[in-house]
Amino acid sequence: MKKAVKRMLDTIESEVHYTRSLIGKNALDPRVMAAMAAVPRDQFVPPELRAFAYDNGPLPIGHGQTISQPYIVALMTDLLQIGPEHEVLEVGTGSGYQTAVLAELAHRVYTIEVIGELGEASAERLRALDYTNIEYRIGNGYAGWPEHAPYDGIMVTAAASHIPPALVEQLGPGGRLVVPVGLPYSHQELMLVEKDAGGDTHSRDILGVAFVPLREGEDSQADTPSLH
Ligand code: SAH
Repeated sequence: MKKAVKRMLDTIESEVHYTRSLIGKNALDPRVMAAMAAVPRDQFVPPELRAFAYDNGPLPIGHGQTISQPYIVALMTDLLQIGPEHEVLEVGTGSGYQTAVLAELAHRVYTIEVIGELGEASAERLRALDYTNIEYRIGNGYAGWPEHAPYDGIMVTAAASHIPPALVEQLGPGGRLVVPVGLPYSHQELMLVEKDAGGDTHSRDILGVAFVPLREGEDSQADTPSLH
């Protein structure tokens, strides 16, 4: 394993340890750590920032958006408890880095990005890296992707002002939704919503986070073709 990757994994481990009382565990699922080790983060950041690719921080990816911090990517992935048969929806493809981590673990990942250029570049990047279990869509993911519902897991990688109701609806029994909720650029809580076998939902706060805002409303739903 490359030294930089090992350093990133060590930093994630120590952040997990440091936040153990908030997240309720002292170590993440080894399968999640293996997925973090497998995805080359340097391929998902702008070339001029490659030297920082394995630092535990967010980095700009253009269009005012960011690739999330590795610790948060690992934690959010862990919270979904993804199994190899799972169908997962991601809202906010961005660089495609989190998408790749999800694709390492799930049967299939459906990912939606509202900024066309980012979504197209990520689809190209992930195909070049040989991910074949990802479906891409350009559009507003606030309303989810109902055609492929129900999902075993849904991850939102931008901050919503409230838990998007359509996403809760598109969660199957036993499904889990991870979403940052709060004000733009401040006071956000990472929330975990679980749907039980009877369809009732329970939600709890995990920890404070800082994400770019989720575009809400259903404005661009009408003309959002899948990418092929
Ligand atoms: N997971 C990404 C995070 C990117 S930042 C990564 O690791 O790179 C969040 C992304 O969500 C941005 O690309 C932003 O354009 C996108 N986004 C914001 N609101 C959205 C919406 N309603 N539907 C789909 N994507 C959205």
